[in-house]
Amino acid sequence: MNKEALRRKYLEERTKRLRTDGNDQYLQIAGQLAHYLEDPYTPRVERAPKTDHVTFAFIGGGFAGLATGARLKEAGVADVRIIEKGGDFGGTWYWNRYPGAQCDTASMVYMPLLEETGHMPSEKYAHGPEILAHCQRIGKHYGLYDKALFHTEVQDLRWDGARLCWVIRTNRGDALTADFIGLGTGPLHVPKLPGIAGIEDFKGHSFHTSRWDYGYTGGDRFGAPMTRLSDKRVGIIGTGATAVQCVPHLAAACKELYVFQRTPSSVDARGNAPIDPQWFANIATAGWQQRWLENFTANQAGGGADVDLVQDGWTELGKRIREKIQTLPKEQRTLDNMRLAFEDADFEKMEAIRMRAEAIVRDYATAQKLKAWYRQLCKRPCFHDAYLQAFNAASTHLIDTDGKGVERITAAGVVVAGREYPLDCLIYASGFEVGTAYVRRAGFDLIGENGRHLSQHWAAGMRSKHGIHVHGFPNAFFVQPTQGANLISNVPHNLTDSGLTIATVVAAARERGAQIVGVSAAAEDAWVQLMLTSVGRMAGGPDCTPGYYNNEGRDPGPAARLNVGYPEGAKAYFTYIDEWRKSGTFDGLEFR
Ligand code: NDP
Repeated sequence: MNKEALRRKYLEERTKRLRTDGNDQYLQIAGQLAHYLEDPYTPRVERAPKTDHVTFAFIGGGFAGLATGARLKEAGVADVRIIEKGGDFGGTWYWNRYPGAQCDTASMVYMPLLEETGHMPSEKYAHGPEILAHCQRIGKHYGLYDKALFHTEVQDLRWDGARLCWVIRTNRGDALTADFIGLGTGPLHVPKLPGIAGIEDFKGHSFHTSRWDYGYTGGDRFGAPMTRLSDKRVGIIGTGATAVQCVPHLAAACKELYVFQRTPSSVDARGNAPIDPQWFANIATAGWQQRWLENFTANQAGGGADVDLVQDGWTELGKRIREKIQTLPKEQRTLDNMRLAFEDADFEKMEAIRMRAEAIVRDYATAQKLKAWYRQLCKRPCFHDAYLQAFNAASTHLIDTDGKGVERITAAGVVVAGREYPLDCLIYASGFEVGTAYVRRAGFDLIGENGRHLSQHWAAGMRSKHGIHVHGFPNAFFVQPTQGANLISNVPHNLTDSGLTIATVVAAARERGAQIVGVSAAAEDAWVQLMLTSVGRMAGGPDCTPGYYNNEGRDPGPAARLNVGYPEGAKAYFTYIDEWRKSGTFDGLEFR
């Protein structure tokens, strides 16, 4: 392995992709493009505006809202209202119904509240319909449908210091109030389109992968073949985690499929398999899912575990890096040496993944173009056993743009390097907004005590305690990984754990007869200072090939320094927060 040559190659490929417009290369879906956001799955039902009061209102009906709602119900809060812009619960899994959608982290730890709801995942990596059904199961099990408002978008959310409650205004004319609010608006929920010249001119059919049009393609989200594509020339722009999952299905259905690639994904083996009910019955003893979650975290993010119960691509990735570091004699384990060992482990893994492409894809030139030249965690690692194989079909064409991206879209198709590819249908697998302003993604600014806006409070970066409590925003709770465990390899674990923290705090406030609970300025500041001691994230990095992990390769500014997790890692955070919850003193919070 010539490490210097590899470093040079990585840099060369990165340089090709650097753009001066960074995140601005993407289009916000609005105006003439707004139809790309319409909900193709559930008809909107007219209803009268609501003006009632609940104890707890939660914005967002994905895993964050469901997990928090569940824990609140368990803690005795009867009236929980979830407000959701989609037509049902599910969040990501409501919107992303593209063929082949599947979780990338093992179902046993990825799917929340399995033990509580008594569900056994059918596969090691469950498919989208099962995960969406599970979201609905959680909603039913905990009675969260009773007060839920679907197809409802919050437009204004402000603290009423006189009435000591939150006032929530929506696009359905609602003016609701709540003692407490939770925010689970997700980091990746606003679809984006590439800012390619001529995008509005295309006369064929087009849609974003998160609004899959089965009416056009035929087939369904359960895997029925998309028979209406048999006479169609279809193009797909993007080769990220979404495209990796849906391309094999398109390849099997289309007359001709054109995959427009700017940067290849790293695609490692998947190894999916059905879960054996007999095996599951043996392991599913009381407390099993919590044990599995803890074991996953210890193997993936470090912290010591004798066995690897989960054995998925993520735990393998974590273990491989640690094993390499452990080959260093103890006295040589400096930060620099550990980084070099990490790099070695990564070079080896990426070389194996590149060789996998060469072994699977029969056409040599195509195989070369499918090789990823960057560190595995520069972009979202992918795992699939049919994606690379799809390029062996004569009707599937990889149109590699050599890092430049699609040149132009015309009325008839897509232009790359001066050549037009005529298409009947164009699918955008172009991802979701990351790194745009919180207010733009959420659709509202939070207005807390003394009229202070969240955007002002976070102007120099995120400030919180635990990633949950924000000073000046009493009775409000954020549910997301940053400034908490920041366990990116299993996002739902962060959410269920925060849900438990919130339910514990709300129950304590009620027990104490407190109307207000919030973090003190000093406690928030101390937490922010602690976050600044974190060495940062393993994913992305300024020297990585551009993508949403590294702000498209542009310096994100000092505010991004706060987009980190607990300095000692995810396992240590979960241990810390468990003790914090159990202590009953809720250090840093003020109950009034
Ligand atoms: P991504 O943002 O990962 O991918 C967008 C794709 O569009 C990239 O390949 C990008 O290329 C390409 N692109 C953008 N502009 C152009 C252009 N002008 N010309 C050509 N190509 C272009 O979106 P995804 O929807 O794939 O995934 C988003 C995230 O959602 C994932 O990273 C993951 O976190 C999550 N996800 C999780 C799944 C799971 O767990 N099972 C499944 C799917 C998604 P480039 O790389 O060069 O920027």
